[in-house]
Amino acid sequence: MTKKDIPFNKPLHIEKSLEYVRQVLTSGDGIGDGYFSKQCQGLLAQELGVPEVLLTASGTHALELAALLLNIQPGDEVIIPTYTFVSTANAFVLRGARPVFIDARPDTLNMDEAQLERLISKRTKAVVPVHYAGVGCEMDTILKIAGEHGIPVVEDNAHGLFGRYRGRYLGTMGQLGAQSFHGTKNLSCGEGGALLINEPQYSERAMMLRDKGTNRIKFLKGEVAAYTWVDVGSSYLASDILAAVLYAQLENRDRIQNRRKEIWNFYAENLRDWAEESGIRLPSVPEECEQSFHMFYLVLPSHEFREGLIRHLKSQGITSAFHYPPLNVSEMGQRLGGRPGDCPVAEDLSRRTLRLPFYYDLQQEDQVRIISEIIKFSRVTAG
Ligand SMILES: *Cc1c(COP(=O)(O)O)cnc(C)c1O
Repeated sequence: MTKKDIPFNKPLHIEKSLEYVRQVLTSGDGIGDGYFSKQCQGLLAQELGVPEVLLTASGTHALELAALLLNIQPGDEVIIPTYTFVSTANAFVLRGARPVFIDARPDTLNMDEAQLERLISKRTKAVVPVHYAGVGCEMDTILKIAGEHGIPVVEDNAHGLFGRYRGRYLGTMGQLGAQSFHGTKNLSCGEGGALLINEPQYSERAMMLRDKGTNRIKFLKGEVAAYTWVDVGSSYLASDILAAVLYAQLENRDRIQNRRKEIWNFYAENLRDWAEESGIRLPSVPEECEQSFHMFYLVLPSHEFREGLIRHLKSQGITSAFHYPPLNVSEMGQRLGGRPGDCPVAEDLSRRTLRLPFYYDLQQEDQVRIISEIIKFSRVTAG
């Protein structure tokens, strides 16, 4: 009997979403800001306790909308972790800003807040912490330093929906927060995102920028007789068809998050002794953080060890993945002034980090197989 393949990710499917999608399609609707978009936005705003949530077509779009809202201009600088996905930087680079890359903390791989002050200049117009793996950045320090310089904070919370830092939800502490509902995230509608607007003064303009720079929102509220072009903008709205898929998941968020917690804990409990013996590090979650159970990763002793383990797992039908080659060494990052060696912690750890299969439907027997193959490989490697 051949063993079944274990993929790295499988997007979540909730049966109820089919009924909601049918509802949208048969109602002849589906454009942005429809019934399900409003349901999603209302639920998120209420649950997270923020004044306004706007669904977008992607997390990338939510970040772009944030950059527009903050009037980022050519010549501005934005402080961005080097250890992140390209969208964190691109959203600001599109406006002409130069990303200033900040290295990672060795424990959480989040931005190293101890280096923040040193990287701030007169041109700094935003700080963009990414809560890697849904484990909160050291936000008290980041907010304090940014606040002292009058610099807005945009949280890229693509990994961290429903995670918390000192009791506060991730994504709700900066002026703005970006969520992603991409197929690889805890909740997903294929492609999707949301901007969390934590300060109400941004709300009205955000709605106009998201809707092609028009004041259609005022028209819909009956405040103006016809809508017109009032600002720059783009179409960052999410289709209500996708919002219907997302809403079914949001309604089931506790069940989804609880299952992900079980998966995470199973990995941690069954790999702990092996990791300790083998000098391998499991994810660390500081006491003040409640994580979102977005991913499970290992920090291995060497790059060669990681590459060997990826190959071994692949030979057993198991797909694992590594993460973020640091942006400061990427081709584009170097064109924007990044240099190899600027961020030694991220440059080292990114070559040794391995992400294990992690998705809602991952079966415990599959986890048992993954764990035993990891341990088997390291025994062979150790000789
Ligand atoms: C997924 C992700 C994004 C982008 O989200 P999309 O919805 O795919 O556009 C941005 N930042 C981080 C850290 C991500 O993981």
